[in-house]
Amino acid sequence: MIDDDRPDLLSFTPTELRSAVEEHFRSRGQPGYRTDQVERWIYEGLARSPSEMTDLPAEEREALDRAFRIAEPETAMVQVSEDGTVKHLWRLADGELVESVLIPTQRRLTLCISSQAGCAMGCTFCATGWGGFDRQLTAGEIVGQYRASRRWADENDHGPISNIVYMGMGEPLSNRKAVHPSLTILNQGYGVGARRITVSTVGVVPGIIELAERPEQFRLALSLHAPDSELRGSLIPLEKRHPLPELVEALERFEEAGGKRITFEYTMIDGVNDALELIGPLAQLAERVDAFVNLIPFNPIPYQDWGPSSPVRINAFADGLSARGVAVAVRETRGRDIDAACGQLRGHTLVQIEKGATPT
Ligand code: SAH
Ligand code: SF4
Repeated sequence: MIDDDRPDLLSFTPTELRSAVEEHFRSRGQPGYRTDQVERWIYEGLARSPSEMTDLPAEEREALDRAFRIAEPETAMVQVSEDGTVKHLWRLADGELVESVLIPTQRRLTLCISSQAGCAMGCTFCATGWGGFDRQLTAGEIVGQYRASRRWADENDHGPISNIVYMGMGEPLSNRKAVHPSLTILNQGYGVGARRITVSTVGVVPGIIELAERPEQFRLALSLHAPDSELRGSLIPLEKRHPLPELVEALERFEEAGGKRITFEYTMIDGVNDALELIGPLAQLAERVDAFVNLIPFNPIPYQDWGPSSPVRINAFADGLSARGVAVAVRETRGRDIDAACGQLRGHTLVQIEKGATPT
């Protein structure tokens, strides 16, 4: 399928889809309502092929299939954690593997999706970073993870997916060509509210500014992990290209754009970024851009012998921040038994494949 040059219906924004499909039917002398039918099948019916579009005449289903593809990823592996977290490994048309995670909580079902196969950023605490960069995902491959996960959730008696976070593999703001349309498609096509979609970035400044300029209120999570440039630079190579002062200015612009909430992600690594003296500077940064702080225990990876900060230390951070008026939450690690942290399932699977085992 790699040399398949049919345009992918899943990569079109709703406006593009309408005009391409309208044009297709017009050239075939078909009535205008055929486009409405296809639109419904894509966004509501989650059709994977025109053959499922049962209210189209057979010859129109075939013609649609000749003109367009619907490139939804296939399931390479699914794992359900003891705590209900569900991890999918998806196989894309060229065999590339990416993952997504469904995280059920009492009131929500959050889907964490990937935006790239691998990641070029090389953060030293991240399994995906160590694995290197393979390729960009298309908008359709990003949206395809949502469609396939929604179908799985329906079939397995979960509620609807309420929230989407771009926190799987890859740096979304290094793939803006696909991520911008994917946001539009999820929001306008599939009806996921902008405030329920969070883009997580390690600090790609031009991308943050572009997101600030969008009219929708998508949320931003900034993977901060350290409140000063020196320490941050030792964890995140991008800090050298977009140092903290520049980053904070971009965050201020995002915040000033109005109604857009920023979250700081702070992964707590024992003896690396959890000194109590860091609480003050972290609180100052959070105050400047009115950020909510998520403290996340580090999830050990095969490439480093680091461990998570102790619960006592994490609580001391949380208490210190809230005493300074910062809104803070300690995020529990979900799905630890299935390696549901960023980039880990794919890493393990590639090791298994190298050893000769094939995932189902
Ligand atoms: N590239 C984007 C989004 C994907 S990473 C970003 O960095 O924000 C999603 C989140 O997982 C980020 O906050 C990242 O810092 C965090 N993360 C990566 N490796 C981790 C690990 N081993 N333990 C805990 N969090 C980790
Ligand atoms: Fe890439 Fe995010 Fe991992 Fe850094 S933390 S290597 S940006 S996926």
